[in-house]
Amino acid sequence: MRLIAGAQGSRVQLDGKEVLLLCSNNYLGLASHPALKAASAAALEQGTGSGAARLVSGNMELHEQLEERLAAFKGTERALLFNTGYAANTGIISALVGRGDTVFSDRLNHASIVDGALLSRATFVRYPHCDTAALEKLLSEKRGKGRCLIVTDGVFSMDGDIAPLAALVGLARRFDALLMVDDAHGSGVLGATGRGSGELCGVTGGIDVQMGTLGKGFGSFGAYAAASAEICDYLVNKARSFIFSTSLPPAVLAASLAAIEVVDSAEGARLRDQLARNAVLFKTRLEQAGFDTMGSQTQIIPVFVGPAETTMEFSQLLLEEGIFVQGIRPPTVPAGSCRLRCTLMATHTEEEIAEAAEKIISVGKALHVI
Ligand SMILES: *Cc1c(COP(=O)(O)O)cnc(C)c1O
Repeated sequence: MRLIAGAQGSRVQLDGKEVLLLCSNNYLGLASHPALKAASAAALEQGTGSGAARLVSGNMELHEQLEERLAAFKGTERALLFNTGYAANTGIISALVGRGDTVFSDRLNHASIVDGALLSRATFVRYPHCDTAALEKLLSEKRGKGRCLIVTDGVFSMDGDIAPLAALVGLARRFDALLMVDDAHGSGVLGATGRGSGELCGVTGGIDVQMGTLGKGFGSFGAYAAASAEICDYLVNKARSFIFSTSLPPAVLAASLAAIEVVDSAEGARLRDQLARNAVLFKTRLEQAGFDTMGSQTQIIPVFVGPAETTMEFSQLLLEEGIFVQGIRPPTVPAGSCRLRCTLMATHTEEEIAEAAEKIISVGKALHVI
């Protein structure tokens, strides 16, 4: 792990040297936004810790305010906070299904979804990436035997492509399955008003559980399930990562509330536009130079390399050039599909994007990747 000094801006001090940051999920730059910092500082008057799990010592007002705001933002009856996205996925999935049920999971889903499915003891069926025809076949074979849960990343975290949500909603209806979407990388970022991949695909109403995180685009920390009152009540009673863990502290809750206000404002719309422009600029330049960006449709832009060794050398050489981007290898991605995972932020300038692209191109040529 590297040592970073300073806030997660477009440039950071890495092990004492200034580098361009191209691997943060702080997509809108909110992690150092003055409104979030001020809200967080003010909330410290209520103390630093929440003291216990909410079923033990009760809710703080900020827990309830944030859940109400999240439900309004997502257009659901209710929302329930979790401490992290990892805790949300393991808690939600293992609560909703159990032995005798079946989880249908996209092959490229995040590790926390896989862990939730394994923890649930339900039958775990992985379908080929975004292949709704294959999923339909698997669902029809399973019909009538226990509860079915279809779960997918909204935006795939290592590929930057978007799940076929409209088709998944249709399949969930037809086969009487629950549909859960993990929008860790879409929340605050995608859709005209930042509601996420569901908004982008025009299907928010058809998703039973919209899971999202607050530590990426929202620049804070934590996660939530936005769903019906019935599902949220059920999760309060059954999701063990909610029940048996100390709840989020006031400063974090207040930062998340402030983040939603920014996302919902004209400034939020401007940041989303800038992010989308930055992503297109970067991707276009790399594709023109001959790189494979693996079907990315978002601010997550993988640069395909292939072998693990070349990928890690690529990342090291870029660091020497002042560009901080991680090489991704197994077990995070399948063997032979190692890549640089580049993530754009709204706070990158066009000059910084051009600089990063040119350096990736020159190192890519030196390593014969292009
Ligand atoms: C980051 C991520 C998570 C985990 O969220 P944390 O809040 O970081 O624990 C879950 N799902 C996906 C798709 C992610 O990218």
